[in-house]
Amino acid sequence: MLKTFENRDGWIWYDGQFVEWKQAKTHVINQGLHYASAVFEGERAYNGKIFKSEQHTKRFFKSAETVGIKIPYSETEINNAKDSLIAKMNFKDCYVRPFAWRGSNLMGLSTSKSNVHVSIAVWDDWTTYYKLEDMKEGLNLITSPWKRPPPDSIPFEAKASGPYLICTLSKSFAEEKGYNEALMLDYRGFVAEATSSNIFLIKGDEIHTPIPDCFLNGITRQTVIEMVKDQGFKLIERYIKPEELNDFEEIFLTGTAAEITPVKSIDSFKFTTGDNSITFKFMKDYRKIVTETK
Ligand code: PMP
Repeated sequence: MLKTFENRDGWIWYDGQFVEWKQAKTHVINQGLHYASAVFEGERAYNGKIFKSEQHTKRFFKSAETVGIKIPYSETEINNAKDSLIAKMNFKDCYVRPFAWRGSNLMGLSTSKSNVHVSIAVWDDWTTYYKLEDMKEGLNLITSPWKRPPPDSIPFEAKASGPYLICTLSKSFAEEKGYNEALMLDYRGFVAEATSSNIFLIKGDEIHTPIPDCFLNGITRQTVIEMVKDQGFKLIERYIKPEELNDFEEIFLTGTAAEITPVKSIDSFKFTTGDNSITFKFMKDYRKIVTETK
């Protein structure tokens, strides 16, 4: 039988208890599903230990607070639940997905009497987010017609489900046209990010990356910034115009799922001047950090 995300063996932590994976269900009438009234996290465990688990949990709670969802657990309870679940599933390397959503107490947009559910699931088949050959070759990106909105239109720091519609629209646009990924510009027309990752651009010993003032300042982005500074590269955060892309030798994406993934082309720009040797080195160095951080 097809292994979908419903049809798996194992456990899901659901409202404080371990529930059999196939029984972790919810009613179709709920505010989370209808109005994207939900927040989530994306984390990775390496050798049984989640990289920056506490930082992810903090962002989970901050996202929830930003959209007015009160998680009825403490950060410690969520941290412990993640670890217990990974142990119960007997996973070493896996993706971790905490999720909080408004339930079925109410319909309509009022949230004052909404109930909140929380779940955590882990799966081990996202060894790489993109196909291995694409990660080696580099991704082909196309600029999305959908843009990151201004910060007073939607809370951009929250990993909230609602804004992900922009990402799914962009990703579908790219895939329908035969590309791996979409590059999203922001409302001003500056380079922002890809659909689930941040972007870095290399020119000599300079590494440029957009200022995260209307999109997620990813935990991987922050890790990579520290890493490249430690290695003596000059890190430059600035507004980047799309027509500048051609000036760069290598480009890569960063994200928990994507880790570090090289980019081969964006629209008509092909990054062939470099051989991706710096990006490949960063991929190795990043792996060392995530597997060796205690
Ligand atoms: N931007 C978007 C839209 C994302 O979904 C993600 C993945 N969470 C990122 C950037 C990268 O964030 P992180 O490095 O924290 O996974």
